[in-house]
Amino acid sequence: MLFCPLFSGSSGNSSYIETGDTCILVDAGLTGKAIESALRQIGKSPADLNAILITHEHTDHINAAGVLSRRYDLPIYANAGTWRGMLPLIGNIKQKNIRVFETNRDFYIKDVNILPFKTPHDSNESVGYAFFHNGIKLSLMTDIGHMNEQLLSAVENSDLLLIESNHDVELLQAGPYPYQLKRRILSDNGHLSNENAGKALAKLYTRGVRHALLGHLSHENNFEQLAMETVRGVLRENDIPDSEFSLAMTHRDRIGGLFEIE
Ligand SMILES: [Zn+2]
Ligand SMILES: [Zn+2]
Repeated sequence: MLFCPLFSGSSGNSSYIETGDTCILVDAGLTGKAIESALRQIGKSPADLNAILITHEHTDHINAAGVLSRRYDLPIYANAGTWRGMLPLIGNIKQKNIRVFETNRDFYIKDVNILPFKTPHDSNESVGYAFFHNGIKLSLMTDIGHMNEQLLSAVENSDLLLIESNHDVELLQAGPYPYQLKRRILSDNGHLSNENAGKALAKLYTRGVRHALLGHLSHENNFEQLAMETVRGVLRENDIPDSEFSLAMTHRDRIGGLFEIE
């Protein structure tokens, strides 16, 4: 399985996944042009895609979904709640390209088995995804207000996990955001802090996870080095040495590497 975080951050999200004969885009939260050019950098085109999967209807996840679907005749997969929020925002989508799945029920796109699982976030019905192919498991979970047992069990034993490491709580509290927005981000249905991402990974270490990518960093309230050091620090506090857990970073404005998972 191939995984490429094209962009990740509060300003826009999109990831590329490829298995034997399936190419999937998860979220399309930038311009169509930016996504096309990022795909081109890894030798792909949107025309290669079999589907666009959407996590939830916030703009940083859906911005180019309609454009790409119309331009390349691509099916968009989302649950009913996300479709309700998204359809008025992305323009006309051909009926045949409106694919509705049920949260917590797995489905297939060609040779990939996909499990959308519920995430706690302030949107209609947001999800994370686990992808299974040939005994490999890849999971993506961002836009999560807090961790819970359902999330941990949804992503346990992933060979690679993209997890949100959104903000540093102190930077957020001291920063320029209005009070209501700070409260929203810090709430149980907001975003996961660096510290809480580290705690989640420490728990997941005991449940088979050894490789993670940090994503969906806030532009205002975080920076890459701080997120990485905070998460690493929490892992060390939990007696998990650096050599036992590989951490990598995604970026808001460029490709975060091409990962071959075997
Ligand atoms: Zn969101
Ligand atoms: Zn988001």
